[in-house]
Amino acid sequence: MAAPKLEMRPLGNTGLKLSSVGFGASPLGSVFGSVSESDAVASVLEAFRLGINFFDTSPYYGATLSEKMLGKGLKALGVPRSEYIVSTKCGRYREGFDFSAERVTKSIDESLERLQLDYVDIFQCHDIEFGSLDQVVNETIPALQKLKEAGKIRFIGITGLPLEIFTYVLDRVPPGTVDVILSYCHYSINDSTLEDLLPYLKTKGVGVISASPLAMGLLTEFGPPEWHPASPELKSACQAAAVYCKEKGKNISKLAMQYSLSNKDISTVLVGMNSVKQVEENVAAATELALFGKDHETLAEVEAILKPVKNQTWPSGIQRS
Ligand code: NAD
Repeated sequence: MAAPKLEMRPLGNTGLKLSSVGFGASPLGSVFGSVSESDAVASVLEAFRLGINFFDTSPYYGATLSEKMLGKGLKALGVPRSEYIVSTKCGRYREGFDFSAERVTKSIDESLERLQLDYVDIFQCHDIEFGSLDQVVNETIPALQKLKEAGKIRFIGITGLPLEIFTYVLDRVPPGTVDVILSYCHYSINDSTLEDLLPYLKTKGVGVISASPLAMGLLTEFGPPEWHPASPELKSACQAAAVYCKEKGKNISKLAMQYSLSNKDISTVLVGMNSVKQVEENVAAATELALFGKDHETLAEVEAILKPVKNQTWPSGIQRS
């Protein structure tokens, strides 16, 4: 039987259709360990070949390295620009946070140059909980609307860790101003708190990107990077779950991808990838899910291991390397 094609899902009211697995390019900035340019480009090529059409980055990842690497990968695709969807971000930089209209307006030109693109599809205010949410509402988003009118961006998004930031902003901007939200680490086996917000987001017509299905490395056999902000208790529970799966001949990352992909109110599950192997494994997780459904037995066992730490999060003050 031929493997099914990667599913495409609508993104809120944008009219965009995103592959259910999205390519998170933060690892291309060597955020999770060093990555060569050839591996970065090969990962992007393989992702597109296997049906991934959505690529996310930020000037913050690897202090602009991720954007540059992704730009090289996208150029190497050699396909019309309309065949892939790119999001990048503004307001968070290696030097710190700046959500002023002046900075974000300059930011898009810098990002477009590094990405070697004329426009990005989605431009997102990055980790807004670190700035003033009122500034984001009153200054940053209006500046992004001007970039939309200028044709440099197509849609506007906001990202961050605490879920309350989304309702705070969406309740204060005119309908249709914010097109997309990106939430991370809140729809994976160990933390599914985003689920409660989905009906509200639907009423607002906002597209939902759920990032970090592997909980930024917690739900991998290799384990998280040294900077990971989880408590020792959460880290060791996830490690125990990964070991349990391995002993059973299962892979915790596949299980985690399938868990996150199962909710179709989430437009795309954005997973960070830095090798052809990871791209192939994550796409296979999606196509096998479509063919065979979830591995309910192993999932229940892993959920039992993670029960004591379920929905445990961390203060959102992390500075990644
Ligand atoms: P993630 O949960 O996707 O985990 C990434 C880690 O898992 C990396 O070390 C990667 O190499 C590894 N990995 C990927 N596939 C694997 C597999 N099959 N087997 C084993 N290991 C595998 O975390 P993430 O990268 O932080 O999140 C995904 C993307 O979402 C980011 O790259 C970024 O684009 C976006 N994101 C945005 C925000 C924000 O805007 N605030 C926050 C987090 C993530």
